[in-house]
Amino acid sequence: MTEPAIPRPGERRAYWIREALARDPGEPCPPLQGVLNTDMVILGGGYTGMWTAFVATELDPGVRIAILEQDICGGGPSGRNGGFVTGWWDELPALVAMYGQQGAVDACHAVAASVAGVGQWCERHDVDAWYTPSGYLSVSTNTAQDAGWRHATEMAQQLGVGPRYRELSPVEVQARCSSPAFRGGAFMTDGATVQPARLARGLRRVLLERGVRIFEGSPVRRFRAGPPAVAETSGGSVVADQAVLGLNAWAGALKDFRRSMVCWGSYIVLTAPAPDRLEAVGWTGGECITDGRTAVRYFRTTPDGRIAMGGGGGRAGTAGQVGLIFTHDAESARRAAEGLWRFFPSFRDVPLDDAWGGPIDVSGTHLPVFGTLRPGNVHYAHGYTGNGVAPSHLAGRILGALALGRDDPVTALPIVGTRPKRFPPEPILTVGTWMVREAIVKTERAQEEERAPNLAARLVSRIPRKLGFRLGPE
Ligand SMILES: Cc1cc2nc3c(=O)[nH]c(=O)nc-3n(C[C@H](O)[C@H](O)[C@H](O)COP(=O)(O)OP(=O)(O)OC[C@H]3O[C@@H](n4cnc5c(N)ncnc54)[C@H](O)[C@@H]3O)c2cc1C
Repeated sequence: MTEPAIPRPGERRAYWIREALARDPGEPCPPLQGVLNTDMVILGGGYTGMWTAFVATELDPGVRIAILEQDICGGGPSGRNGGFVTGWWDELPALVAMYGQQGAVDACHAVAASVAGVGQWCERHDVDAWYTPSGYLSVSTNTAQDAGWRHATEMAQQLGVGPRYRELSPVEVQARCSSPAFRGGAFMTDGATVQPARLARGLRRVLLERGVRIFEGSPVRRFRAGPPAVAETSGGSVVADQAVLGLNAWAGALKDFRRSMVCWGSYIVLTAPAPDRLEAVGWTGGECITDGRTAVRYFRTTPDGRIAMGGGGGRAGTAGQVGLIFTHDAESARRAAEGLWRFFPSFRDVPLDDAWGGPIDVSGTHLPVFGTLRPGNVHYAHGYTGNGVAPSHLAGRILGALALGRDDPVTALPIVGTRPKRFPPEPILTVGTWMVREAIVKTERAQEEERAPNLAARLVSRIPRKLGFRLGPE
């Protein structure tokens, strides 16, 4: 059978963004011109920046906020991700190791509140982001992945939150979504999907209605913490008491975060609508699904019967340099398509309507960092490691409260104020990231084909764990 052509990634905006803009382009937000004095400047118009601005306007309706975005709000990963809004129960073992049982459970409850909170917000603000709270399914697709979730599901059980993340038998997995590749699995109730760009553009609309000043097409070229903080663009500057960095992978360009993250690409292919094929595989419940790879495959459906299939095995880049390999890599898009056809052979003749990619800000713990830089007026959240949709909602609560000096129980969570785990310096970092990524992709390809992985690749893929990072295979 001839496989459908894979659209070239990077030649136009991702489908999600085109769909959202066609529906509502929103009012123009021209670039910054001149000097603006304000209370808070936010760098980056993705979810982190916009949720922070939203929370700040809730806490203080009079607060003056300016957002500087180099592209359009939601033009980055916030408008082109997989749309998984998922909890942290699968991260329990790492969280318990870092923060103890109570701290871990508190953090998971906070993210779970954000999973629900995104839906409640959409309802309240009349944003139709296709919010579908159908839960999140992890599946094994080869023997190496079997029971990869068990440590976390058992821990959830011990900590009294078992119903939120529990193991499923192969039969239960197939009942939710039938695939020749699926084996056992685990199900998290705190999971939903959204059309990510509709959410981002909905946030932008609500912020404009609240008087937040948004400057698109305004890359910040220089930033000084101050106080006051000063963010300069080619057209002007914003001077503010408080600053918030919602820069995701781009934060790696700042001296403070140069060794806090590595960057990997992640790519998605989107099929044409094929609701009859979805029905035939019984995947009509709207669950979002991932496999157990480090270069994770993640996939979800849309209300009109498409599959969006993502693959996290895109190439590694240098932190802070977000270049074309994160958006234009046809090979990474091909890998995502191969995952689609492997898991859903009946989609082999369904046309692919789009393919796109973006950067993933990988932290050393696989979890984001939230905090404040010295001297105390610059607040940040990043390192979401490809799981930022629900956590960036929580980031908004944390950063909004920190920036306004307000009490919110979320600022007392142990995840706040931790220093990022530092990666080795350059050039070891870039070379090492590339080598480890190649080794992981090679190892996981062998595992997917039930072949014994190359020993050297296996050893290299485990280096991050050996060095104390919570990344890659055990
Ligand atoms: C292909 C892909 C799929 C993903 N799938 C999922 C998923 O299904 N579920 C999930 O939870 N997470 C997913 N993620 C991750 C998720 O998209 C991010 O964690 C989340 O969007 C982070 O939001 P943010 O606002 O911090 O970052 P961003 O959305 O990246 O926003 C940062 C913004 O800063 C802007 N910026 C950068 N530098 C400057 C500058 N100098 N001046 C001004 N502006 C600047 C950028 O243009 C960008 O808009 C995925 C990511 C990718 C790339």
